[in-house]
Formats: sequence, C-alpha cells, structure tokens
Amino acid sequence: MNGISDGVTVHEAHKLLKEKKISSVELTQHYLERIKKVEPKVKAFTTVTEELAMERARKADESIADGKAGLLTGVPLAIKDVICTKGVRTTCSSKMLENFIPPYDAMVMEKLNAAGAVMVGKVNMDEFAMGSSTENSAFFPTHNPWDLERVPGGSSGGSAVAVAAGEAVAALGSDTGGSIRQPAGFCSVVGFKPTYGRVSRYGLVAFASSLDQIGPLTQDVTDCALLMNVISGHDKRDSTSVPEPVPDYTKSLKPDLKGMRLGIPKEYYVEGMQSGVSDVMKAARKKLEELGAILEEVSLPHTPYALAVYYIIAPSEASANLARYDGVKYGYSYKGNTMWENMEKTRGNGFGAEVKRRIMLGTYALSAGYYDAWYLKAQKVRTLIRQEFDKVFEKYDALITPTSPTVPFKIGEKKDDPLAMYLSDVCTLPVNIAGVPGISIPAGFVDDLPVGMQIIGKHFSEETLLKVAYAYEQATEWHKKRAEV
Ligand code: GLN
Repeated sequence: MNGISDGVTVHEAHKLLKEKKISSVELTQHYLERIKKVEPKVKAFTTVTEELAMERARKADESIADGKAGLLTGVPLAIKDVICTKGVRTTCSSKMLENFIPPYDAMVMEKLNAAGAVMVGKVNMDEFAMGSSTENSAFFPTHNPWDLERVPGGSSGGSAVAVAAGEAVAALGSDTGGSIRQPAGFCSVVGFKPTYGRVSRYGLVAFASSLDQIGPLTQDVTDCALLMNVISGHDKRDSTSVPEPVPDYTKSLKPDLKGMRLGIPKEYYVEGMQSGVSDVMKAARKKLEELGAILEEVSLPHTPYALAVYYIIAPSEASANLARYDGVKYGYSYKGNTMWENMEKTRGNGFGAEVKRRIMLGTYALSAGYYDAWYLKAQKVRTLIRQEFDKVFEKYDALITPTSPTVPFKIGEKKDDPLAMYLSDVCTLPVNIAGVPGISIPAGFVDDLPVGMQIIGKHFSEETLLKVAYAYEQATEWHKKRAEV
C-alpha cells in the first residue's frame, strides 16, 4: 500500500503524509493490520489501542490538511507499558497494575500528543522493568522477530520488537541498566539512553529513580534524533530533569568523523564474550577508522565492579519505590481477614519472582547494620566509576563497546539463572551508574542474529553520539535489513 508494505521510518512517513501520498488514517490502519498479522507470533503488545489510534489519526489528518503538520504528526508509535498514558491501561507487565488506568499522561506522552503522534498501543516488558529478556512479564514472553525461539532482550523487549517487526514506526522504552540498548541490539534497531536528566521521568513508573531514563527505539539514527528533539527538555515536575537547552539533534547528522577520538575500553571486551560478537566489533572499529576517527585502547579499571554496584543500588531504590504497592494505595488488592493477610497476599500474588527477589535484596542492603557495608559502599564505588568516565572523556569524544557480550539467547535458557541473566547487561550498566548517555546501533549479524554496537559519551554529549552513530550507519547497510515475520 503506497510504498509502506515493508514499513516506513518516521522521516519517510512524514514525507508521505506531507505530500498527501497517504493519510494518517491509512497509515495507522496499515500498522493495526500488521499488528493483527504478526502479534500471534511475536507477542509484543499488552494493549492495542485501536479506537484511540484511529481517533488520533483522524485529528492528525485535520492538522495536516491545515498545513500544521510537524515531523511526528500522524505517525504510529508504540509505548512501553511503564509510561503512564491517560485513560489507557498501564500495567508495567505486572499483575499488581493489571487494571491500572492512569488519570494523567507522562511528560513524554504530553509531548508526543502535542506533536500529533498516534499511539497504537502499549508494549510488553519485564515486570517493572526488571530483567533482560522480557520473560519476566506477568502476561507472556515476547519473541525475537529474527528467531522466534529467542528472546528480544529486555526489559523494553516489546518496544524493540514492535519496531523490528514493523508493528509501529518507532517506540519509546526506558533504560535503568540497559533496557533500551540491549533489546535494541538484540533486535537490530537503534536504541538511545539519554543523559540522566535529559528527559523528564514524570509519569514513568519508578524502578530505580537515580538510574531510570526514557528514550527512543527507532529504525535509524535520523528517527532517533527526531524523537529526541520532541521528548527532551526540562520539566519542573521532575526535580532531576536538567534545565539545559535542547539543541536540534538532526543538525548532528553529518557523516564525517575526521579527527574524532574514540576510546576502546578494554574492560568491555569481557571474558565470555562470544567470538562472533568480537568479530563484528573488529569490523565495526575498522569501519570507524576508515571514516576518519582515531581509535585507541583505553582503560576504565572500575568497570568490573559496575555489576555489583548496580545490583545493590537498583534493588535498594526498587524496594523503596515498590513499597507503595501495599494493597491499600495502589493496584491489586487482596481482601483477607487481617491487615497482615491483605499485605502478604497482595504483595505475594501481585509481584512475580524477580520483583520479589529485588525487593528482598534491596531491603537487606538498606537495613540497619548492613547499610554501610553494602549501600554506602556501592554509592562510593559509583562515584569512582563516574569519575573514571569523566577522566577518559577529557581525552576522548566517545567510547565504542559491544552492547551485549552475546547474541540473543533462547527463550528459557537463562530464566532460572539470575546471575547469567544479570551478566547480559555488563556493557550497559556502567553507563546508567555514571548517568552518561549511550546509544546502541545495528552493527552486524552472527548466524543471522543481530549484534549491537554501543557508543558512550560524556554528560549531554547526545549530539556527538548521534554523529558517530549516523556516520557509521550511513557507511553500512545493517539498518536496512528487516526481520521477516
Ligand atoms: N536488566 C537490568 C535489570 O534487570 C536492567 C533493566 C533496565 O534497564 N530496566 O535490572
């Protein structure tokens, strides 16, 4: 239908809409039909908002007719089910919030709605964003469109799959330790975790507040820049959002890396990294050099501690944030005979195993007598990790690492082995710990399974990251490959 049979990017959709080659109603219908066709195989959506989407599409067509179309007007998007959407169920893929209908929109939704975007639905995730495979969803696992027996990564697995399987033009996810970048890498799409404070967390259901950030998952770097333009910015309702001006990120899309200094942190090329991933990274580094960048090995010696630091800080914050789900104030509520029974059964039935594990870990790390030994110590090492990044960025513009040490693994392979699952994020966690931005872009395939390359920069260096990502993308064909589902 009008050249969109294989799906379109945001910038392509905008062109078609603006030139009136297609209407938003037609475009939205196309995606809703595509969702119906592939959902039985990939299971990316928790809620499809068909009626609402058609209503928004009609409104978008009116704006376009009035000559008021912005770049996102009329473009179908999928939203991770951890972002509050007014009047639309927001479950966090948890039984606890299965029937939660937010009375307000998250800041990013206010911005997307004002830009005229069309939400086609909410997408699956690991419960409360805790996981790396989307298998921790209380509802169902999501399947990787490149191999339906494999995981799409997580926790924003639904967002990555919606984009990779052509169910939405682009998506939003959230990233606490890798949840945008790792699934983007596993599904061969672009995923961006902005600097902490760049995007408002207002209306993002909290997991670990000092690490969480919302960001886009898109088919290419241009779309990523377009979405970043819309969702970034200060918000007085999120005291950690930063009042830095938002540049026009599309201005950094220039395919030239001459003289750019890129560091290759040796600690990220970890033991246990698959040889195929290492080969892809070798080829990617060569390509970056051909584009004019200067690559040098660097060392960030505290990197091996990042995993331990994360698994103390994130569960500690989670245990505090999730205390509100007590059967009285929010969500699922078990009505027993005593207050204790209510509390026990509410939290016992409402949360899945991984969430309970995190709450227990966090409560332990924060308890009197252990606080200094665990939580405080982890915070001190966090500072060292951040300082190490600051230092390396005095000399280098960005760092190049794999997004994950492996290609997508089989569904069920790591489900009962939390430690193996946690290792899936060794390359992405330090970025959240330091609060710096990181992007994952398609970098190649190993036996038809995607590999992502991560680019890390200093605080508020989004433009540099987009520039490196764009130059690499334009010099390669990986982003053009589409999963066949
Ligand atoms: N996989 C990591 C975890 O389980 C990161 C998740 C995330 O970024 N939300 O905590």
